Amino acid sequence: MTAKILDGKLMAAQMREELRVEAARLAAAGMRPGLGVILVGDNPASRSYVTAKEQACKDIGLYSDDNHLPASTSEADVLALIRRMNADPKIHGILVQLPLPKHIDESRALLAIDPEKDVDGFHPVNVGRMVIGEKAFLPCTPHGVVQMLARSGVQTSGRHVVVVGRSNIVGKPVANLLLQKKPNANATVTICHTGTPDMGMFTRQADILIVAAGRPNTVTADMVKDGAVVIDVGVNRIEDVTKKAGFRLVGDVDYEGVKEKASLITPVPGGVGPMTITMLLFNTVESARDALARAQKA
Ligand code: NAP
Repeated sequence: MTAKILDGKLMAAQMREELRVEAARLAAAGMRPGLGVILVGDNPASRSYVTAKEQACKDIGLYSDDNHLPASTSEADVLALIRRMNADPKIHGILVQLPLPKHIDESRALLAIDPEKDVDGFHPVNVGRMVIGEKAFLPCTPHGVVQMLARSGVQTSGRHVVVVGRSNIVGKPVANLLLQKKPNANATVTICHTGTPDMGMFTRQADILIVAAGRPNTVTADMVKDGAVVIDVGVNRIEDVTKKAGFRLVGDVDYEGVKEKASLITPVPGGVGPMTITMLLFNTVESARDALARAQKA
């Protein structure tokens, strides 16, 4: 069997068009969705992520308040900016790009964000709401994975999902989301990590295999069941002298081998990545919709 490709770029473009229409509707009702962005320092990867997020906002008609601050910015100034954004009615979502320079306490910065504007879904209030199944801002990459499965008609209820990786930003939340007794979830979920002996014994049982380990070739074809759905979250740079940049991007899955066994597979790049930014836009639009509903009630 050769897998069908789950095209994240195409799916993200479709969702962004839906969000553009919804943002225009909200703007016409006086609530143009707005994102406040804080980047501190000049980490090139962070800069390119932030630029892509700011551009994506503009492309679908969101207001974006972009703050690119020097690495020497004090923690007090970053906290003051977050507080200003918390109070600004034009801003419905706040994004603090991580990592922050070492002299700024990341968790203090994330805790300073009003949970009602925490569109990255990293504030413990949103994490807690997500785990107990209440309405919450869902973290963008895990939410993107759930959307990809749902929009491509992959049934999760009653299936066995195996997640490789237990980070707070991908592994744990994606496992939690798929475990919920809700539509597009209700799966039996197993989580593997570096403490798992014989990981293949678990991954070979997966109907849906989600890999977020941060290492190339963590999952090879012998670890995958025939017909499984494989979602590769990993993004790794590997040396490639044929490329101008001297490297290329690969996922955590041995794509060439695994695509001969899976029924559906995400490529890297062009799989989960484009969905992550889209879910940030989704959360910002949702936050503006909630703000409009509150304003109409008042
Ligand atoms: P992370 O914080 O480094 O966590 C990696 C997890 O994978 C850890 O739980 C680790 O286990 C586990 N792991 C590592 N090697 C393993 C192995 N050989 N066998 C079993 N488990 C293993 O990484 P992350 O932030 O979750 O990100 C994972 C990958 O996704 C990275 O490549 C990252 O760049 C990518 N990513 C992509 C997007 C996107 O938008 N496409 C977004 C976020 C992240 P331990 O806990 O035991 O150490």
